[in-house]
Amino acid sequence: MTRYTSKGKCSFCNAIFSKGSIASHLRTCKQRKAMLKASGKKQKKIKFFHLVVEGRYLPEYWLHLLIPSSSPLWYLDNFLRGIWLECCNHLSAFTIEGERYSISPLADFDEKEMNAALCDVLTPGMKFYHEYDFGTTTELTLRIVSELESFSNSESIQILARNNPPLIVCSFCEKLATQCYGGGEEWLCDECIQKYDYDEDMLLPVVNSPRVGMCGYTGQ
Ligand SMILES: [Zn+2]
Ligand SMILES: [Zn+2]
Ligand SMILES: [Zn+2]
Repeated sequence: MTRYTSKGKCSFCNAIFSKGSIASHLRTCKQRKAMLKASGKKQKKIKFFHLVVEGRYLPEYWLHLLIPSSSPLWYLDNFLRGIWLECCNHLSAFTIEGERYSISPLADFDEKEMNAALCDVLTPGMKFYHEYDFGTTTELTLRIVSELESFSNSESIQILARNNPPLIVCSFCEKLATQCYGGGEEWLCDECIQKYDYDEDMLLPVVNSPRVGMCGYTGQ
């Protein structure tokens, strides 16, 4: 595999930055500052966490998010399912400082529910983990970058920046893969799918998510 610099887009000015420089850009982005200024006044002040999420073993998939720090864990779980994970309503859990917060807690394993507010279990600088589907698991690493107060009427999660889709090359030629076979065993371009006569029911589309190719994940 060739090493490359993961890049992504600022949601405010649409400029492209490397994964390593996007956080500092977000602090100084003029568009973002202008938007904050323009909003002000009639809105209420809400505390937010600036959160970075990435694939634990696929760090080329990443998101910078702003989430009200009083949100319960299930709200974040729900968002992650929507943008990156959901295929067949599998179980999921966060691991924070050795504690497990599960969507369906097992008392035997000392698991807790996802009702806790983020600000009650997390502080800036903390790293924590999320698992979706305990069979074919997609694992995510999350980190609280900072806590900030901002004027807003919206308690919804805001995407500050997101990775550009990594380019995945076909396992048989030099073209870009559009489909995946066998949970990432083989990546295929449109031509090679025809050429090698793959069963289309066994293929999953290449999508911009760390769950690409897994279980029945299509990104829909
Ligand atoms: Zn920007
Ligand atoms: Zn599934
Ligand atoms: Zn090919």
